[in-house]
Amino acid sequence: MNHKEIIEKVFEKINNIEQKGALAAYIPELANVDVEKFGVHISTISGFNFGMGDYKENFSIQSIAKVFSLCLAYKMLGGELWNRVGVEPSGTAFNSLTQLEKDKGIPRNPFINAGALVISDVLLSTWATPKEELLAFIRSLSNNQTLNYSARISASEKSSGYRNVALCNFVKSLGNIENEPDNVLDFYFDLCSLEVSCQDLSQLFLFLANEGKTIHDNKQILTKSRSKRINALMQTCGFYDESGEFAFRVGLPGKSGVGGGIVAIHPDKYCI
Ligand code: GLN
Repeated sequence: MNHKEIIEKVFEKINNIEQKGALAAYIPELANVDVEKFGVHISTISGFNFGMGDYKENFSIQSIAKVFSLCLAYKMLGGELWNRVGVEPSGTAFNSLTQLEKDKGIPRNPFINAGALVISDVLLSTWATPKEELLAFIRSLSNNQTLNYSARISASEKSSGYRNVALCNFVKSLGNIENEPDNVLDFYFDLCSLEVSCQDLSQLFLFLANEGKTIHDNKQILTKSRSKRINALMQTCGFYDESGEFAFRVGLPGKSGVGGGIVAIHPDKYCI
């Protein structure tokens, strides 16, 4: 079977199983999402593109966006970044507070919220306008100039993000946040509010399947070695305390978000 046939078969199967899971209602706007929405899109490095279902509709990618901020911080700081954040799976929920105290404010990895807040802090210390720099970076990955943040979703998370406020202040108290927590949190909520379609998503992440180089304009975003390391982090930490389960069942580096999205990469082949 080719990619198209496999996806058609799986899509049919998944679409017919009973709804499980729940909306991430702790972010009020995400409680309004239609649970029936379902889409998939694949982009291969050889140029094949195929989608099914609601693959052209934008949705909130939430923590999937943490991969973009990580790539940028890694570009800026290189290996020094790993003094601020670890590379170990946490085995805990994405918003856990308990581990941080033992780890003295050095988050286990860049994908748990505490880690993504430290990465946000790095970008705030690097640029005067990190929100604009991040958006320009993301738009350049697929050359889609319409990609944007959702002010509605970031405001919604800001109004209820008490746990992230706690995490950020806690890490600040332990000396691993340089900027004012309010500014770090504002940037983090904007990052998580990015809205993207399945089609965009598979194209945005394609450079990580292609040794760090974009397909549409052949630009080296990260060195081959660094892009391998981002994939290693997605493989081991991309699904928090479910990372082992995802590796066991799927076996690809990937990243999830509470908006319901999952992206996965098959190095040298495709992004889905
Ligand atoms: N913005 C969400 C939060 O901080 C992201 C969590 C996620 O997608 N896992 O809670």
